Amino acid sequence: MIAHPGGSSLPVIEHPHLMKNYNRAPINFVRGEGVWLIDQNGDRYLDLVAGIAVCALGHSHPAIVGAIAAQAATLVHCSNLYHHEPAGELANKLAEISGFDRVFFCNSGTEASEAAIKLARKRAFRLGQTDRNVIVACTNSFHGRTLGALAATDNPKYQEGFGPLPAGFTFTPFNDVASLEKAVTSKTAALIIEPVQGESGIFPATNEFLTAAREITEKHGALLIFDEIQTGMGRTGTLFAFEYYNVRPDVITLAKALANGLPIGALLCTDEAAGALHPGDHGTTFGGSPVPCAAALAHLNLRDRMNLNAHVLNMGHILLLELREIANADRERFGDPRGLGLMLGLPVMDPFSAKDIVQAALDQQLLVNAAGSNTLRFVPPLIINEEELREAMRRLRHAIASSRVRQDEATATGH
Ligand code: PLP
Repeated sequence: MIAHPGGSSLPVIEHPHLMKNYNRAPINFVRGEGVWLIDQNGDRYLDLVAGIAVCALGHSHPAIVGAIAAQAATLVHCSNLYHHEPAGELANKLAEISGFDRVFFCNSGTEASEAAIKLARKRAFRLGQTDRNVIVACTNSFHGRTLGALAATDNPKYQEGFGPLPAGFTFTPFNDVASLEKAVTSKTAALIIEPVQGESGIFPATNEFLTAAREITEKHGALLIFDEIQTGMGRTGTLFAFEYYNVRPDVITLAKALANGLPIGALLCTDEAAGALHPGDHGTTFGGSPVPCAAALAHLNLRDRMNLNAHVLNMGHILLLELREIANADRERFGDPRGLGLMLGLPVMDPFSAKDIVQAALDQQLLVNAAGSNTLRFVPPLIINEEELREAMRRLRHAIASSRVRQDEATATGH
């Protein structure tokens, strides 16, 4: 048994057979409602994590629940050997709203990254350019945990002990145009970029960098891939971040928020790029299953009626101002908040720790998480309203104050 962070009655049930590859907080969630997660004691947590940028329309949105239930009662699985409506309709919808021609479905972000890497190499192969196989990624990138995606992920901690990783991956400094000009060559199959780096601590690309990326890849005949797994589906205040930057890549990858919580990944691309994959070249048993596709369709149809982009920009602005106020009140502890829309980060300065604040926030029944080396990440449900945001910031201020007291006590006692 583990103590409950809020000190509530019931001890948290331990699950001794779960693999210990996550540092799970000692809370057992049983239900979600909008921006709230409710634990086994009935305690309500204000959720600014949203499954790490997944539950865009909040938890248990009735229209999405209804679509899932209806699809589950009709057809749960159908092999990709056949057609079914939910995948076909979702592909049509995604093509219509993104301007891309073709869609490949998979089950997660890392699978979408794998698909993009394989597509880029196969395209070069089909063009007869067999030495064009290098994938150029950015420093501090994160594209997933399977071996190909991990090889494109610039984080030694995630790579350690998993070698040998696939060859043919190089890294170029994020937001550095001069280096990019040297990094992309006739051997580059694709350049892959997160428009806003998420896992490394919320770092937006500059417009100059993404514009240069478009020009340089075009000049060398390489594909430009934007990993929109975290930034996509309205997170940054436009449906896709490439719209914010007004730079159109050849390929985008999506996952996370696409089905508002059900596992799905997608690769969207031009007809030219899609031509690389012939029947049998790549596939998956579950990718594009009817239930996640129905959830994603319900999500997209709801978005159409919600004017969500304007809402995300308004709420993002309020959150940014609140975070600036928090940072200005304690310059010793915080750097300048950064990000786009409702994808914001508040850097914490050494020796203070974002993880300590995450911990203290649990006692306030507030969920935030730490990203990168030492940044508080805020990726709430996009439907969060002003009252809920202000309440979250009230709780965050309490958490910051109590973690400061703990830190000062530890310093005083030499621990
Ligand atoms: N790419 C980006 C930009 C991500 O943020 C993530 C997950 O955090 C991934 C890829 C991997 O997605 P998944 O965890 O669904 O495999």
